Amino acid sequence: MNKILLIEDSMMISRALSANIRKELNVEVDSAYTLADAKARLASNHDYFAALVDLTLPDAPDGEALDEVLQWHIPAIVMTASFSEEKRDELLERGLVDYIIKDSKTSFNYVVSLLRRLYLNQFISVLVVEDSFTGMQFVTKQLRRWLLTVHEAADGAEALAILNKHPEIRMILADYHMPVMNGMELVKALREKKDKEELAIIGISAINEKSLSARFIKYGANDFLTKPFAPEELQCRINHNLETLELLAKLRETTYRDYLTQLFNRRYLFEKAEKQFRAAKSAGHPITMGVMDIDHFKRINDAHGHHAGDTVLRTISALFSEHFPDCITFRLGGEEFGLIMLNIPFEVALTRIEQFQQDLKDTPMNLGHPVYVTASFGVTDELADQLDEMLQAADRLLYQAKQQGRDRICTNN
Ligand code: GH3
Ligand code: MG
Ligand code: MG
Ligand code: MG
Repeated sequence: MNKILLIEDSMMISRALSANIRKELNVEVDSAYTLADAKARLASNHDYFAALVDLTLPDAPDGEALDEVLQWHIPAIVMTASFSEEKRDELLERGLVDYIIKDSKTSFNYVVSLLRRLYLNQFISVLVVEDSFTGMQFVTKQLRRWLLTVHEAADGAEALAILNKHPEIRMILADYHMPVMNGMELVKALREKKDKEELAIIGISAINEKSLSARFIKYGANDFLTKPFAPEELQCRINHNLETLELLAKLRETTYRDYLTQLFNRRYLFEKAEKQFRAAKSAGHPITMGVMDIDHFKRINDAHGHHAGDTVLRTISALFSEHFPDCITFRLGGEEFGLIMLNIPFEVALTRIEQFQQDLKDTPMNLGHPVYVTASFGVTDELADQLDEMLQAADRLLYQAKQQGRDRICTNN
């Protein structure tokens, strides 16, 4: 779902806020100025993932709009002019996501970051590991309210089984005291499989066991919470940890991707693909390594300029990854690319490379007028100890392909 309902009677605030949201989030915003407006929109629209609700409207002076939104089970963020502890308790009781006090520009920025979080949460799965029924209820109710997909496990062993079945899980909240396998043992077991950048773990312990929180961290948890905690505290920890994961993922993308083509780079090859190579080798799977070099690429630069050359490299790269979505495709540098095909029989691998060779030849490079390119390939399936040795063998075969006249594939058999 990708729409937001904004219920606010001040035209000025409504306009400013919706412009800000559209700019930052790339989602649609519907504005309602009265309760009647809001009712009509809610009845006819079913793709709101969140609503921003002003508690006082001309035709709804006492938060009636919030009740309306909650009836539709849409996560609500309340905007209010005044704040008190009683009001907070009452609002949380009614089941809203968060509340903000309309007093500054900062609070509107906060709304935008909150909406971004809610939007992204729709695609994130978390696992709660807790043996107490009420503890589980308290946490999962909040998480679901924040649009996360929630899995539940009653002990560490069950948690491991669920994680195996759902590798998409990004975050685990683990209680300490549990039968079969406690929270600490679970953290230890989890860290053997996934590091902090792939899976965030938040350990939960009781207030009278202070040393537990430190131990959770030492065993590899990202963070901890001390029971009892307020919904706001849970929300802050969750958001903070999810944001860190997202930042790290972005950083990883820039570290391992080639800037021009968005294919993997050399660094990815030797830090990450090397591991996949070793795993495939020990599983006895066939491994095919291919390298490709564009023929007479210098002529394209010379005739059309370096910028046009870049465009051609991007077009070729897009076609390349389209043909091999299940393989590792990378740019070795310049106009030279590589391909690792794991667990694909050599005949199949070769046929697919031939199809790509033909498709590349037939694809016009759009430089104002169509320009056609060909490429030469070196392909080997002869296993070596190191990935680099296979790369060098493929490179020697590529050299042969160039020598023999280009636009061809040379293989080891
Ligand atoms: P061959 O068929 O023997 O491979 O001929 P070639 O012209 O493709 O090979 P050569 O190695 O002589 O020239 C490669 C050219 O690729 C030279 C270089 O300027 C260009 N090149 C390398 N990287 C980039 C890039 O990122 N962008 C652009 N536009 N050109 C690049
Ligand atoms: Mg060359
Ligand atoms: Mg070349
Ligand atoms: Mg080259």
